[in-house]
Amino acid sequence: MSALHFDLVVIGAGSGGFGAAFAAARLGVKTLLVEKSDWLGGNATRCGVNTWETGVGGTGVPFDLYKRLKKIPQAVGIYTINRHICWADPADGPGFPGAELLIDPTKRYLDTLRQFGAPEDYGERVFRQTHWHGVPFEPAIYAAEMERMLAENGCCTVWRETAFTHVDGSDRRIRSLTLSNGETVTADFFIDATADILVAQAAGCATSLGREPRSLYDEPSAPREPTNQLNGATLIYRVTPTDRPGIEPLPDDIPQKCWWNDRFPGASCNQYPNGDFNINSLPTMPGREVVELGYKAAYAECLRRIKAHWHHTQTVFPEFQAYRMTWVAPGLGVREGPRLLGRHVLTEHDLDAGLTGQSHDDIITIADHCKDTHGADVHHRDRNLKQPYGVPFRCLLPREIDNLAVACRGASLSSIAASSCRLSRTMMQLGQAAGTGVALAKTSGVSSLADVPSRNLRACLAAQHVELTWPRSPELIAHLQAE
Ligand SMILES: Cc1cc2nc3c(=O)[nH]c(=O)nc-3n(C[C@H](O)[C@H](O)[C@H](O)COP(=O)(O)OP(=O)(O)OC[C@H]3O[C@@H](n4cnc5c(N)ncnc54)[C@H](O)[C@@H]3O)c2cc1C
Repeated sequence: MSALHFDLVVIGAGSGGFGAAFAAARLGVKTLLVEKSDWLGGNATRCGVNTWETGVGGTGVPFDLYKRLKKIPQAVGIYTINRHICWADPADGPGFPGAELLIDPTKRYLDTLRQFGAPEDYGERVFRQTHWHGVPFEPAIYAAEMERMLAENGCCTVWRETAFTHVDGSDRRIRSLTLSNGETVTADFFIDATADILVAQAAGCATSLGREPRSLYDEPSAPREPTNQLNGATLIYRVTPTDRPGIEPLPDDIPQKCWWNDRFPGASCNQYPNGDFNINSLPTMPGREVVELGYKAAYAECLRRIKAHWHHTQTVFPEFQAYRMTWVAPGLGVREGPRLLGRHVLTEHDLDAGLTGQSHDDIITIADHCKDTHGADVHHRDRNLKQPYGVPFRCLLPREIDNLAVACRGASLSSIAASSCRLSRTMMQLGQAAGTGVALAKTSGVSSLADVPSRNLRACLAAQHVELTWPRSPELIAHLQAE
């Protein structure tokens, strides 16, 4: 059987893979998008992470998707933080188990595009309530809309329930991929968006896992010795109002005190557009334990833990007795895994320097999420950022392969940089840059993605309303106001 040929094959249809395939197909690149599961959206849908966290930079493909979702009833909203465990006031009653994020109809997309700042200038509560507005969505509608967008101009083929299994290559190029449906596909370019960078690993690219020692990049928050600490994992669940209030019983085999010895983790309780709540315990399990147990056993264990978490929440915070657990994400939310060692490694120095201190000429997206490690006992210096930083295109490019880009949380980031950079919209922007880079390589006849001129790539991204500089330009603000 002869291999099917595409201009571009993207493996993995999470945030990065969707951004890549959509951006490339929109520019006329004949694209195949291959997804292992039966859902598009990856972590943002199957793992229940139904919120784009606050932050600069998500002005390209994420805004295109948001505008479409906004036209669909109960598909998307914008939150404001209402109560927070850290702002507990005895007058509020028993308090709240974490952060309460409520849909706020007065907010607009533009309000969701800033996280950095100096809380000390305002007081943390005022700062967050003023500036932190994320974008919660209904995962099934989000996944369906992604599929519609990809189908739009006929340039993108999507294969769901198909996994990448094998890579063949020579002379610094991937030649073909073998897939679980028995097909072998060839392409001029490939994008690895599998989160765990399975294609890059199979192609022999250098990777890293865990926290780098201070000696490697001289990062101020890095430990002296390398560690196998990984950002924590969370099994997300959904609760729905009920007209029969009560505490859901704890299954016999789950201890009351549970694994946290009654010190249950706080949770982000995020309102869905239909009024249900998404419960994201921070975290359910340390990332290292997931690796030690293996994915299947870790999922089963996290399932027991969230039953205990929910029982505890209903017991201590009686307002939750008016809800029932109605859904558990079929995928475990894993925040950190292996990462590429690419042509540039983004480090804490980039985060601390910010755009005014960085000298890269190939920045393809900007971000400002804090250094954010859940449950890994890590203390970052200057956790909140003072200004946005940029991610260079070289962070997507392996040193060893010329026709491959990595556009997912496994891009070339140090562990500390990854804790900030990993947000869904930022991943979609990495994808948009990778897909656009492939389109430019095709039109200019360039065979190595590293040879795509940065100036052309940035100009093309800017024309797609991707935010590359700060402060935000009046033109971009006007574009974003027309939602
Ligand atoms: C619990 C948790 C909470 C988070 N909270 C937030 C938040 O509130 N806001 C925010 O913005 N970000 C949040 N994040 C971060 C963000 O959601 C993720 O980092 C981001 O979605 C990752 O996108 P990705 O494209 O890198 O990977 P993914 O979304 O994981 O996509 C990878 C895709 O590749 C597919 N795949 C894997 N192997 C194969 C294969 N062999 N063949 C084919 N396909 C394959 C997978 O099925 C998946 O669809 C959170 C993350 C976690 C885990």
